[in-house]
Amino acid sequence: MKVGCVKEIKNNEFRVGMTPDNVKSYVNAGHEVLIEKGAGIGSGFTDDEYAAAGAKLIDCAKEVWDTCEMMIKVKEPLPEEYDLFHEGLILYTYLHLAADKPQTDALLAHKVKGVAYETLIERNGSIPLLAPMSQIAGRLSIQEGAKYLEKIFGGEGVLLSGVPGTPKAKVVILGGGSVGTNACKIAVGMGADVTIMDINLQRLAYLDDIFGARIQTLVSTDANIEKAVKEADLVIGSVLIPGKSAPKLFKKEYLKEMKPGSVFVDVAVDQGGCGETTKVTYHDDPIYVVDGVVHYCVGNMPGAVPRTSTIALTNATLSYGLQIANKGLEQACKDNDVIYSAINTYDGKLTCKAVADSFEGYE
Ligand code: NAD
Repeated sequence: MKVGCVKEIKNNEFRVGMTPDNVKSYVNAGHEVLIEKGAGIGSGFTDDEYAAAGAKLIDCAKEVWDTCEMMIKVKEPLPEEYDLFHEGLILYTYLHLAADKPQTDALLAHKVKGVAYETLIERNGSIPLLAPMSQIAGRLSIQEGAKYLEKIFGGEGVLLSGVPGTPKAKVVILGGGSVGTNACKIAVGMGADVTIMDINLQRLAYLDDIFGARIQTLVSTDANIEKAVKEADLVIGSVLIPGKSAPKLFKKEYLKEMKPGSVFVDVAVDQGGCGETTKVTYHDDPIYVVDGVVHYCVGNMPGAVPRTSTIALTNATLSYGLQIANKGLEQACKDNDVIYSAINTYDGKLTCKAVADSFEGYE
């Protein structure tokens, strides 16, 4: 199969869909790999490394899109890429369609086989292609939150750990999955006072086992959230209902009762956000303030640490990608039905129920 990889064009996105080591695996399996020149430079991979691994370096993205049968990316295509789609193309990347109707319509119109990293669900319920980015975003959420609590950035001027004789900052984490657990790990490590909420009691029991008395677990209800965020210095939004828009747990009415200069980091922004006042921001202008609360809502947080992120992501995508390239999408699904769960669009049809449920008029 002809496998392609282009440079990401999203604002300040430096990750890349394939590393030179990945290229070697595809080439050894008999595939031809086309890489846009400069695609890996933001993650520290040079064109020479790709060429040495057996890739064909291509000057322009359009040629890669036009030639390849399978495109491996990181982020969802942007509107300027929609006209580069062609019928039958396997697009293997994050798609996040529930929050993006124009992209959904473009994939359907061009009959692209859209294979979304974020909806590939293993039999044990894990989401292996989201997990590495969630680990990174979760850890970064506390690092960014700590930064924007600094006075110079509009924060209340609080150090997460405090020092002996001062209060620790209160961190409230909404959603105790991969992002939430990793945020919790760093917040606890930095010495903050941490409360984590989830609707899944088994998850809360797991967190309680792992972190013991160093955290407070609470069931996620409107009442518990309202009480906790009023006291909070830093709130992390990390809920997910796979494939669906995030529930709006963090309500606008809470903001006026929160401490001026407290910070809300909505990691779930890529699924529409779990705050009523969430709007997408970018690395070059990541924050805005509503009712005195600093909002950080960057949709591609792992892009801030592209070297780590690219290696972590491609460690996870490689094996499924090879199955698809080696067998074709249809046979790969027959042999490993887990791959079905990743198919969001196929032959002009929307094939992911959770995405269809997010839009009116789609089945
Ligand atoms: P996950 O499935 O591991 O965890 C989500 C958790 O949310 C689950 O434990 C679930 O029980 C819980 N949940 C669902 N509804 C809830 C509610 N009403 N109240 C409290 N908890 C609730 O998912 P994840 O990997 O942790 O991802 C979380 C979100 O972060 C997703 O939207 C994901 O796309 C996003 N994400 C964003 C970035 C970024 O750069 N902004 C990076 C990675 C992941």
